[in-house]
Amino acid sequence: SLTAGIVGLPNVGKSTLFNAITKAGVEAANYPFATIDPNVGVVEVPDYRLNRLTELVVPKKTVPTTFEFTDIAGIVKGASKGEGLGNKFLANIRQVDAICHVVRCFDDENITHVEGRIDPLSDIETINLELILADLEAVEKRYTRVAKVARTKDKEAMIELAVLDKIKPVLEAGESARTIELDEDEQKIVKNLFLLTTKPVLYVANVAEEEVANADENEYVKQVREFAEKENAEVIVICARIEEEIAELEDDEKEMFLEDLGIEESGLDKLIRSAYSLLGFATYFTAGVQEVRAWTFKKGMKAPQAAGVIHTDFERGFIRAETVSFEDLDKYETMQAAKEAGRVRSEGKEYVVQDGDVMLFRFNV
Ligand code: GDP
Repeated sequence: SLTAGIVGLPNVGKSTLFNAITKAGVEAANYPFATIDPNVGVVEVPDYRLNRLTELVVPKKTVPTTFEFTDIAGIVKGASKGEGLGNKFLANIRQVDAICHVVRCFDDENITHVEGRIDPLSDIETINLELILADLEAVEKRYTRVAKVARTKDKEAMIELAVLDKIKPVLEAGESARTIELDEDEQKIVKNLFLLTTKPVLYVANVAEEEVANADENEYVKQVREFAEKENAEVIVICARIEEEIAELEDDEKEMFLEDLGIEESGLDKLIRSAYSLLGFATYFTAGVQEVRAWTFKKGMKAPQAAGVIHTDFERGFIRAETVSFEDLDKYETMQAAKEAGRVRSEGKEYVVQDGDVMLFRFNV
């Protein structure tokens, strides 16, 4: 399952956000594949298209795709050197697909800041530096081993050594490994190193309740945005306290509450959607009377691979996929009408699946 790890300094609002996630989240019992772990919250990926398909098809059940958030508390200054429970937490981040970095952008005299002042940029630097140092340690360890093998003129080891030679100085200069341009082969090698600073990152600016509607005027948020732009990272503005309240509301109450606040979508929904697309994931649908369901696939996947998300048999025995875009089905309302309008395509093995495709797979068993 897809996971994003929540990191940030103490007292920035991580637990508050994580509480909102677990309250808004699905019952673990309904998702047998989900990890039963108090530090993991499973949420549905909000998608209006799934609601519309349900309205059109009226199936027995509707199944959304899900996303996991892991609470990785405990990174403090010195974590990479084993301060606090540092190393253990850093090990947890190696497992996640993406990092949600929560940054404190609210003033509140009653809540101490670990460094004694609100300074989002220095907070970001502190956390990033710990991740960079942990990576540097991993790279150095690997370096010694690979260098030994490379001396025997081993081809693979020599290639890996060249990659390590590229990464090491960048980390030593205090920069994340994601800033390095790598070709495809190099990327494969780097992937096996399980570095923390190559993971995609999303900055979550946690603002005060009264700031959330006009967050763009918030000086702290501006700083975070400027920083993220340089890193090609995204920023989501939320108020964790409000998200915690929203998570307890029913859907219709939620809408009214958001309207009162002057925002369209809850911060949590925005966060989930951004994390999902940040990772290069997209959704296709199957829409039968038994079940209307959203499926997660990696952008760029061809039809057989995408079918394999449902079942390996679908991939192995793939013949063709009857495909219609969500927009067309939305417009014509029934599969039959879409067919008559010539909007249903029969796609083969080379078809690159598009976000929002509604698909029916034909396969041999
Ligand atoms: P963590 O240490 O990063 O997990 O931080 P917590 O979630 O425990 O939050 C630390 C304190 O900040 C708690 O007292 C929260 O209630 C408070 N806090 C978190 N988010 C907000 C927010 O959006 N606005 C305000 N005013 N306080 C917040």
